[in-house]
Amino acid sequence: MATEETTTRPDVLEPLRSHLRDPSYEFEVGAGWWPLVLQCHLAVVAEFPGYELLAVKQKLGSLAFQASPSPAARTSAEFARLAEVIGIFARRSASVCERCGGVGMLRRSRPRIMLVLCHACESLVPGRRRAAAGAAVPGRAVSSG
Ligand SMILES: [Zn+2]
Repeated sequence: MATEETTTRPDVLEPLRSHLRDPSYEFEVGAGWWPLVLQCHLAVVAEFPGYELLAVKQKLGSLAFQASPSPAARTSAEFARLAEVIGIFARRSASVCERCGGVGMLRRSRPRIMLVLCHACESLVPGRRRAAAGAAVPGRAVSSG
């Protein structure tokens, strides 16, 4: 029996793992954002060496780095400063393609999800609406290439 991991873990995000509240958590952002997430971690850890990481995800098209200044005592000033640092990278994510890391922009072409993608990735990532007709037919998984 093979016991090796078959999932492709973002190794570049390995330094963040020791800060996770839940060690089994898997980061929920595309590879294009991994360098940005790492930069965010480095900026946060420089000021909050014992910070606690809850989640890293994409929310409304921008990076959501959900963290706490420390597992124990923390002040509202610490939370405010942490939000300030994280905010820098959230704003930066708005122009970084989540798929390839190129220059991207917010795409509202998919129902229920906003993504930051470059022009090339926008055409590669599935789920785009055909037109703005609005006559959506939900729940039909037709796979005819
Ligand atoms: Zn791209």
